[in-house]
Amino acid sequence: MGLIITSPLRGWATTLDSVPDPVFARRMMGDGVAIQPLGDTVVAPFDGEVVTLHDAGHAVSLRSAEGAEVLIHVGLDTVMLKGEGFTPLVAVGDRVSRGDPLIRFDLDAVALAATSLITPVIVTNAEVFAISRRTTDAAVGACEALMTLVPVQADARRRSDDGTVVEQAVILSLPHGIHARPAARIGEVARGFEAEMHLVKGDKRGDARSTIALLALGTAFGDEVVVQARGDDAEAALAAIVALLATDMGEGAPVVAARPAIAAAAPLRAGQIGGVIASPGLAMGPAARLQQAEIAVAREGADASEERAALRAARDAVRADIAARSDGASGSVASVMQAHLALIDDPELLAAAESRIAAGNSAGFAWRGAIRDQIAAIRATGNAHLIERIDDLVDIERQTLATLTGTTLDAAVPAGAIVVAGDLLPSQLVTLAAAKPAGLCLARGGPTSHVAILCAGMGLPAIVAMGDALDDVEDGSPLLLDAELGQVTANPPETDTRAFAARLAKRDARRAAAQAAAKDACHSADGARIEIFANLGSVEDARDAAVQGAEGSGLVRSEFLFLDRDTAPSEDEQHAAYQGIADALAGKPVIIRLLDIGGDKPAAYIPIDAEENPALGQRGIRVALAQPDLLETQLRAILRVEPVGQCRIMIPMVASVDELRQVRALVDRLRGEKGIATPVEVGVMVETPAAAMTADLLAAEADFLSIGTNDLTQYVLAMDRGNPAVAAGVDAMHPAVLRLIGETCRLAAIHGRWVGVCGGLASDPAALPILVGLGIAELSAVPGFVAEAKQIVRGLTLVEARAHAELALQCKSAAEVRALARAFEETRR
Ligand code: PEP
Ligand code: MG
Repeated sequence: MGLIITSPLRGWATTLDSVPDPVFARRMMGDGVAIQPLGDTVVAPFDGEVVTLHDAGHAVSLRSAEGAEVLIHVGLDTVMLKGEGFTPLVAVGDRVSRGDPLIRFDLDAVALAATSLITPVIVTNAEVFAISRRTTDAAVGACEALMTLVPVQADARRRSDDGTVVEQAVILSLPHGIHARPAARIGEVARGFEAEMHLVKGDKRGDARSTIALLALGTAFGDEVVVQARGDDAEAALAAIVALLATDMGEGAPVVAARPAIAAAAPLRAGQIGGVIASPGLAMGPAARLQQAEIAVAREGADASEERAALRAARDAVRADIAARSDGASGSVASVMQAHLALIDDPELLAAAESRIAAGNSAGFAWRGAIRDQIAAIRATGNAHLIERIDDLVDIERQTLATLTGTTLDAAVPAGAIVVAGDLLPSQLVTLAAAKPAGLCLARGGPTSHVAILCAGMGLPAIVAMGDALDDVEDGSPLLLDAELGQVTANPPETDTRAFAARLAKRDARRAAAQAAAKDACHSADGARIEIFANLGSVEDARDAAVQGAEGSGLVRSEFLFLDRDTAPSEDEQHAAYQGIADALAGKPVIIRLLDIGGDKPAAYIPIDAEENPALGQRGIRVALAQPDLLETQLRAILRVEPVGQCRIMIPMVASVDELRQVRALVDRLRGEKGIATPVEVGVMVETPAAAMTADLLAAEADFLSIGTNDLTQYVLAMDRGNPAVAAGVDAMHPAVLRLIGETCRLAAIHGRWVGVCGGLASDPAALPILVGLGIAELSAVPGFVAEAKQIVRGLTLVEARAHAELALQCKSAAEVRALARAFEETRR
């Protein structure tokens, strides 16, 4: 016959699938029915005893004489209301009869304040009772039949051997203690193990698999709870629950009751031009307009042998210039220089130019003609990789013609100036950087382009996508470049200049303090360990990062080590590079990302057919899995690095668990072949919305997750990270991106996995408090920002970071999030 559970409310009964909260919808807490309430009084669904009643009055649970336990949770996120609008009518331990009132609530007030009024009615001890009948998609009155429960066999998996109990104390950082949602998550994790598990608070002890028992502990933020486990996998079970309890499980902390006044994104005044921050920072100095006009050359040449000699001399001078610039350069800078050296010595280019000279052209005209023919031929191939090289050819043409005609190119930029240009090639930036400019403004360009990445690496403040308004900035006019707000002021009034100079001075002082403490480990002001790692593209970067105080590397862009070559790097070459990085970081963790080829990172040695949508095509791990030899070579090289385990493996562009499984299987096979017993961590990059939304599935099998905010932003917003036309919108501070980051942390915490950020957002000072508040445990930034990142985190408590992040998630745009971040920073100055 079964036990009849009647509806505790008048309303519309529906399935749990329609509850917009995964804890309920995915039955983490148990099966049941949800009611969309029309009445304001919760009544007892059977005769029984009140087992728990939350202090906030929004949730009550009862146990029947047969042992069935049912939780009634009025609305979603109603714990945040702290009792406002709820009147409990019973107390824990009271015996009640079906229909007795339990809680009365202010329907209108709660509806306005809560995320939703939908009220899950959950059978929390599913191991003892199953639902044989239920009413859904129908109107129900209070005390009308809702579910029928039947007893089931107790779970045979649970073992209760006489083994030792292992235990560990944890201080709860859950802002509202263990209420229904955290209890469900704890239960879900505990059910993944065989061991018996209990949580103990004072003299109360509750089974970790029982939501009701956990609620009955009556815990609050800051309470000490002891986790106990007994059984074969007790140690692992204990570690998983302790790791989960060490987080806030994505609950945030509504400690800041009122939202601070947020200035709307500052409106631009006359003389101000807005744009997109490509590399944060502040700079002031005169504008230096980049001369990008085409260099004029005469068509007709003089004597052919003179012209040939002039061309050879010009090429020699350019070659010497490039060699000088590549001296001591590292990473992508060194790669670009290598590519240019190869072009200047290209025999076909020289032969084509010389035959034009023989036909009567001047050296300059012949060189330009030879290069333009080459460019036309490249365009005709339609090959995306080759087309990318056109910029380099244009660069070589300009440098050679400038030498031939005595034109001064980028060297005209004075030290301390702010470079103003339409667009810039990575190679031009490298050239310009030698002149030590103070900042960069581009009319076009994108915030995650390689120019932006280079600027961030150099610590050069930069704003891009400023539009045609930049044309009005005259050469030499004074500029204030605010790459914290994303705006430039031309010809500022004296008062603005003074205020800006004061901000710069404060910033410099903060940087100096950060440098002084660069080598110290990073903890938040309330003691939470947040690791500050560095992103690397070369062994030189690793040495630099070590000097800056990096606690490891959260992203080695392994493809940067092997750009601009025609053959894949051998196992030995790769091993030497990885070992060099591991040595430079002296035993600290090094996360090597598997070759991330395709999309915006072509490689000649992996030909990819022309694609209409390269960003949605053969990219990252998809390419590697399609080229098993390449993948295996790279994994072998990583596994050879000593000491084993220092290098971890990270998979780019993951969209499903299957990709992780394939790489893990290969790693395990290679470890077996090499006789490596030490485990080697394998983690995934979260760069696709799919990875973020299934972070729990990935976390169940990955050792860690690291969010690539550059790609995640482009895929979440459906805006190409390299397309200037949409660059203004490609901001990782968009609430949609932040919500996915928060969701990733919440889902990964279910399996006790840490989540890091290795995308550009980790190098954005405005974003750090939000990221820490969302639950990020590791930030991998550009080496030059490591010391400052540590200092920012040291000044934060988790509680205030969570409250700040909570507000950020409610913002309506990236601009509003940035305004909120500014307000947050201002309160701390
Ligand atoms: C990212 O996408 O954020 C990332 C770190 O990878 P990359 O910028 O190299 O694509
Ligand atoms: Mg990426």
